[in-house]
Amino acid sequence: MTTIASSVQRADDEEPVDAVGGRISDLTEHGELVEHGRVAALHSVTNPPSARTGFDRDRAQRAVTELLLALGRDPLSADLAETPRRVADAFAEQLEPLDFAPTTFANSEGYDELVLVHDIPFHSLCEHHLLPFQGVAHVGYLPGDRLIGLSKLARAVEYFSHDLQVQERLTRQIADWIEHELIPRGVGVVMQAEHTCMTVRGVQSRGAMTVTSTFTGELKTRAEVRERFFDKTRSTS
Ligand SMILES: [Zn+2]
Repeated sequence: MTTIASSVQRADDEEPVDAVGGRISDLTEHGELVEHGRVAALHSVTNPPSARTGFDRDRAQRAVTELLLALGRDPLSADLAETPRRVADAFAEQLEPLDFAPTTFANSEGYDELVLVHDIPFHSLCEHHLLPFQGVAHVGYLPGDRLIGLSKLARAVEYFSHDLQVQERLTRQIADWIEHELIPRGVGVVMQAEHTCMTVRGVQSRGAMTVTSTFTGELKTRAEVRERFFDKTRSTS
């Protein structure tokens, strides 16, 4: 497993990201999400993670046919005849998340230690290049009055990954969702991924991992709690 560095340089033109400070984005007092100096409306955590008009499969197929023509290929050739349908199906599969119900229950035993699900595999699509990035997510929280079904943490990763994404926003959305559903004492989300837009094009740095993190509450303010989070994820490598 990659060691989590204090600073991670993203590909090409992108800004360095503070991997442990949770500086990727912050909420203003008006509930807006500030990302790298931009202000964007905070998405509703109970609705699809970004503005979507629904997946138009026929239109996607026509667009792939047009792309093949633009690439100088014959979409009517025997080899490519089924490609528009296959590509549209592949995008549908990667962009249409499965809804799920968050299951929370009372923390009747007063469990107050870190709950962590580590090495959750995920894949998503980079919104800059429409190329996949994939890796693992470590998701943890410090319980307050309620606990959440453990599988729901993996479901949340899956849900928000099924979108056109940047890893920084994906990390934040998962943390926001847990905050909203559970109102815990703190949340930590660390994601590490290999971006094919870095490995098959551009700098072609095979094996380079991008690490992003968001910490809230006591996981942000108490270094010793955050250290326990990292201890548990390191011990798995
Ligand atoms: Zn990209």
